[in-house]
Amino acid sequence: MAETPDLNRRNFLLGRLAEAHHPIAAPVAEISQSCFAFRGVACMGCRDACPTGAVRFELAVGGARPRIMTDVCTGCGACAHACPADAIRLEQPGEAA
Ligand code: SF4
Ligand code: SF4
Repeated sequence: MAETPDLNRRNFLLGRLAEAHHPIAAPVAEISQSCFAFRGVACMGCRDACPTGAVRFELAVGGARPRIMTDVCTGCGACAHACPADAIRLEQPGEAA
């Protein structure tokens, strides 16, 4: 009865529009500091969920932290769905603070 939000499908379609030279750009994932890795907790849920290998972990003081490779992120939202800290948002390129 009630429709289930289908973020993956929405963002997939937005990506296809961008590929077709539509003015709407595909969103990209952004990770906030509420990510568990910023608190020293080991978690790689976003990396494991990403179908394109866009999440890389880089060494930093306090442990490895995730970073989005924006050139291979399709904005599918799989990482955001998988994140237990609700730390990932999809943003339009250039709109991030
Ligand atoms: S939005 Fe999709 S492609 Fe981009 S980092 Fe997340 S899972 Fe990977
Ligand atoms: S899944 Fe979420 S909490 Fe885990 S490393 Fe990725 S951004 Fe951080």
